[in-house]
Amino acid sequence: MTLVDVRISEPKRYIPGATGDWEVIIGLEVHAQVTSNSKLFSGASTTFGNAPNSNVSLVDAAMPGMLPVINEECVKQAVRTGLGLKAQINKRSIFDRKNYFYPDLPQGYQISQFKDPIVGEGQIVISVGPDRQGQFEDIEIGIERLHLEQDAGKSMHDQSPTMSYVDLNRSGVALMEIVSKPDMRSSDEAKAYVTKLRSIVRYLGTCDGNMDEGSLRADVNVSVRRPGEGFGTRCEIKNVNSIRFIGQAIEYEARRQIGILEDGGSIDQETRLFDPNKGETRSMRSKEDAHDYRYFPDPDLLPLEFDDAFVEELKAHLPELPDDKKERFVRDLGLSIYDASVLVSEKAIADYFEAVAAGRDGKIAANWVINDLLGALNKASKAIEETPVSPPSWAAFLT
Ligand code: ADP
Ligand code: MG
Repeated sequence: MTLVDVRISEPKRYIPGATGDWEVIIGLEVHAQVTSNSKLFSGASTTFGNAPNSNVSLVDAAMPGMLPVINEECVKQAVRTGLGLKAQINKRSIFDRKNYFYPDLPQGYQISQFKDPIVGEGQIVISVGPDRQGQFEDIEIGIERLHLEQDAGKSMHDQSPTMSYVDLNRSGVALMEIVSKPDMRSSDEAKAYVTKLRSIVRYLGTCDGNMDEGSLRADVNVSVRRPGEGFGTRCEIKNVNSIRFIGQAIEYEARRQIGILEDGGSIDQETRLFDPNKGETRSMRSKEDAHDYRYFPDPDLLPLEFDDAFVEELKAHLPELPDDKKERFVRDLGLSIYDASVLVSEKAIADYFEAVAAGRDGKIAANWVINDLLGALNKASKAIEETPVSPPSWAAFLT
């Protein structure tokens, strides 16, 4: 694969090393659990937190002779997400087997998409700042692809002193793997990217974005280079499950690589783990290549095909997304870009604000919602959904 550096604006944040400046390059593979009642290829429930092995059909347990049947709702969710990422929708895509052995993978392979994913190139606009002048800068981060795949089960090593247990509730749940281009240049950009992606899928209702429950997690690819040089060798930090940890893992990993290179060493391409307690990354294994997985089209599944009408129907029912909403708040209500950004960051906040602002001065409503309501909720560590004051009460109070 050839990689092209698509960033146009000059990167502003170099990391000073002992022998000069370095630039960090980041690409993210986000796994987002599809919001659906049942799994990608079976009718078993996807409910989180049920008793171990209670959401397992014969397909999920990989009993001999069982056949996967595609869940149409998961396909729709992937297409909606692709549309939300302004991405190319591929009307024909292929499911492949990715072969590897693991105790929590009873099939011995994961059904995924390799060469022909359901969604191709797209983009996410992130806003980074404020800089010293208080300005925010919009940066476009490229999306390489989005594909559908099965989640694996979960091994539990802490239930018995002598045995490991396996819970297959998650086995076969639909995931969207959303792969970015290596377009990010700082931990702040990476955090802004995940925050924005999470916001978009939550607006769309295609993933609940709950990182504590593992519904959204990221593999973080990091490399460093001298400004102006070609890309360096990357390390991939697996399964980081909070936005703060993503930032910490990048900072640590960039400094580790810079240290090695400045000592005259070289970077081994490898898979690493982030340890949140120590704030460091550790080697897990050397990096596997695609050919190690012996990908081949799953003979149990036909190519996935749909027509333009299928896509148009989904497009027609998409909700207004955060970027459009922000633009409308600035244009129609005269809000500052900053205020509009705060209000659209979560759909529930935007909905609350719009209910309060209806028929009154938008700027005044925005001030009261941001400074007083969100300020008070923040102090009480409460989400907007938990506010004891309903939008009509807040509106009446403002009146
Ligand atoms: P895989 O990790 O499965 O081999 P890819 O080759 O598609 O898959 O790359 C995965 C991710 O690594 C992408 O998000 C890409 O942007 C990122 N990436 C590729 N090269 C680099 C690099 N030199 N530095 C940082 N990230 C990179
Ligand atoms: Mg990878």
